[in-house]
Amino acid sequence: MLRKLRLSSELPRARRYPELAHPYRNDFQRDRDRIIHSQAFRRLEGKTQVFAPGLCDHFRNRLTHTLEVAQVARTVATTLELNEEFTETLALAHDLGHPPFAHSGEIELNRIMRSYGEDFEHNAHALRIVDRLEQRYARFDGLNLTFEVREGMVKHSREIFASDESSLREFLPGLRPPLEAQLIDPADEIAYNTADLDDAFAAGVITSSEIAASVPRFAELIEQIEIQYPGASERVQFREVQRQLINDLVGGLAQGTINAVVSAGIETSHDVREHNARVAVLTADADALNKQLKTLLALRVYQAEALVLERKKAASMVSDVFEHLLQDPLLVSSGYREHLDETPPHRVICDYIAGMTDGYLVKTHSSLVRSAARR
Ligand code: MG
Repeated sequence: MLRKLRLSSELPRARRYPELAHPYRNDFQRDRDRIIHSQAFRRLEGKTQVFAPGLCDHFRNRLTHTLEVAQVARTVATTLELNEEFTETLALAHDLGHPPFAHSGEIELNRIMRSYGEDFEHNAHALRIVDRLEQRYARFDGLNLTFEVREGMVKHSREIFASDESSLREFLPGLRPPLEAQLIDPADEIAYNTADLDDAFAAGVITSSEIAASVPRFAELIEQIEIQYPGASERVQFREVQRQLINDLVGGLAQGTINAVVSAGIETSHDVREHNARVAVLTADADALNKQLKTLLALRVYQAEALVLERKKAASMVSDVFEHLLQDPLLVSSGYREHLDETPPHRVICDYIAGMTDGYLVKTHSSLVRSAARR
């Protein structure tokens, strides 16, 4: 297939602090294991994806979403004979930088940081976590990941240009990331579009017939399933269709990538980097399906009243906690307190809040507000 474009695990990979080779794990296996053992990775379990827990006890959280992205990305990587370990590592790392309460937390932290002339963005924050905030090694801060994994984390959903801030210039501005890294963004979209549809159906926010009205492929499949399994419940029929949608999209990503590589005349991994566009793309059919799902979710699910209310509440909790901590930055937990010597308090507070799970933010909020009321 695309074996000639595979990034090799066998060559030694550069780390900021040189390390000896491991006796039985290659560099990407080591990076994957460092990510899985990080605090930031464990905290993904307590972070909302779209639906906060409570309404239903089987919604995705950011950890289960991450596992679904890894599974989609690995399937495509192995189908195309690319580097599965490198792909898996990037997928497991792709959401490490998300703050509590999903995008509402991110928007609010970014709004606050902008008043200091800085910003908050989850991919940049993920790099900050693996380069600096994780404390597990005596010899260095962070996890000392390979250049390729750090580059893939920064570039999985954006390009880097020579005009970008100086801290990003080490990541080969102007060049596309390796093909494995290019798979992460479409795999993420496939995973969340289908999962959000599933969670929205489970929450009763949307019904099969509403989906069928705006997604022709869904309508076609549900009709087939109703004929094939007329006695099955609406829920099981929905899941039969949802599984087929995932197949369509994942197969569409593998095939679309092959088509793009062939039509661009790409022969080597160097060509992948030099090409003027990404080649990990969906076929036209799969892309249309993906966009229909995205539009439907944007209109019918993400704007649902319960979610909008939840987001407002989360944003105001983030800003309350930020303000309270700014009055007494020493209240951040001990691992972050050490950073106050060399980092401005607003950045330390931002790092601290971004690291919190939803539950810890709620708990911190109520204890800070309570102690302020006593003062
Ligand atoms: Mg994601």
